[in-house]
Amino acid sequence: MEKAQSQDAAMASSENSALKASWLRICDRLKGEVGDVEYRMWIQRITLGPLDDDEITLYLPERFLRDWVRAQYGQRLQSLWREENPAVQHVELRIDKKAQRAAKTGDDAPQAEEGGGAANLSISAMANEDAAALDREEAVAATSPSMNEVRNDLAVPLDRRFTFDNFVVGKPNEFAYACAGRVADHPASPGFNPLFLYGGVGLGKTHLMHAIGLKLISRGNISVAYMSAEKFMYRFIASMQSKSQMEFKEQLRSVDVLMIDDLQFLIGKNSTQEEFFHTFNALVDAGRQIIVSADKSPSDLSGLEDRLRTRLGCGMVADIHATTFELRISILEAKAKASGTPVPPKVLEYLAHKITTNVRELEGALNRLIAHADLVGRPVTLESTQDVLKDMLKAHERRVTIDEIQRKVAEHFNIRLTDMSSARRARAVARPRQIAMYLAKQLTSRSLPEIGRKFGNRDHTTVMHAVNRISELMEQDPGLAESVELLRHMLES
Ligand code: ADP
Ligand code: MG
Repeated sequence: MEKAQSQDAAMASSENSALKASWLRICDRLKGEVGDVEYRMWIQRITLGPLDDDEITLYLPERFLRDWVRAQYGQRLQSLWREENPAVQHVELRIDKKAQRAAKTGDDAPQAEEGGGAANLSISAMANEDAAALDREEAVAATSPSMNEVRNDLAVPLDRRFTFDNFVVGKPNEFAYACAGRVADHPASPGFNPLFLYGGVGLGKTHLMHAIGLKLISRGNISVAYMSAEKFMYRFIASMQSKSQMEFKEQLRSVDVLMIDDLQFLIGKNSTQEEFFHTFNALVDAGRQIIVSADKSPSDLSGLEDRLRTRLGCGMVADIHATTFELRISILEAKAKASGTPVPPKVLEYLAHKITTNVRELEGALNRLIAHADLVGRPVTLESTQDVLKDMLKAHERRVTIDEIQRKVAEHFNIRLTDMSSARRARAVARPRQIAMYLAKQLTSRSLPEIGRKFGNRDHTTVMHAVNRISELMEQDPGLAESVELLRHMLES
């Protein structure tokens, strides 16, 4: 009896060390694949749990981290495990409250499972090495001239096409344009700090923010950080997880101009709002410029903390209205001219009449026409326009619903409709589900969280991952691309 027990224990412990060894190798490979920053932010927070049958459990200290790791690295973790250790076929990511406590108290010692089962394995031993690598990276970044525009690890690079010169001004956007120009010429001047730009999707908010940033940078030594509110949140939470909160705060508070795009994303995210509020105050008090965009005015952004709302409304609030026919024509003329391909005025008028939603779609339609004309070597005509844009224009007339998408996709792949919202993760079900999420994002105007809810209450990061994954796969796999295009075609007609 006793002997059997000790044999069991010996077996368990050799199995354990094999698992640990596999896990360390997987971590090493992931570090090579994702880079030090991402690694330190996400992968390093994972602790190894027990193997049950062919399923290995990995723990993360918080739901947010678990969801993010699952969406971004779930599949990769699974395939790495399968390669490393054939005994492992599935990876289960769980939240472990003990790991959470450990992270909060700074105690990174390995966690024992309840009842003395397989030991969790902390990989904190790697932390110092990573920190050193990160320091090296930052030292390089600090000396590189291009880095005075944005901190690589903090902000997102600016899009060089989004200049003031490329922005077409008309009645709906002239006020926002003028405010943006004013802030670019005289940042942090009284009455213009913060600059709050708002308006519907695809109307030029991001374009104007980048234009401000590009102009400021072109004039010299000024540090500009641009990021979406979503990115701000991820970075903020990641900094708490990796205990580099001070560093994050200092980096943010050291910029001359901070731009946060799509602030509506912070609705309901209270601790992130709080952090943003403090950053905001620190920067404004220090005479730095803040620029924020959102889909609604400060007073209409319900779910924002009152004191933040008040401060956001204190500077200049400028809205971008829906486009008018005249503005759409001017934009089309400018873009057609820039393309170098002649487009008859009749065609531009036709487009301006048909596509009224936003500039992004207008631009997309024109680009498609021009690409088609270049490809077949024939000039753009009204007939070719109607033909090339048939699908797109039809989609404008018809509203596709997520239910329809789920039904069609399930039918096409011969799976049950309920599997669109089930928890099953077998490839045969998961892939069609991802395709349906992808199509929902492409063909409807639903937000990521709304789509997630329709697919069995999944998190928006899961949807985001699905969209990215399918776009990627469509490039690599012509068969899959064809299926998706076929489905899109069926749904749109
Ligand atoms: P938003 O951030 O408001 O959703 P974007 O700034 O991303 O919109 O604009 C969507 C697309 O339309 C971009 O490619 C942008 O360059 C273009 N665009 C929007 N407004 C204009 C404009 N007034 N002139 C030229 N291009 C524009
Ligand atoms: Mg935008």
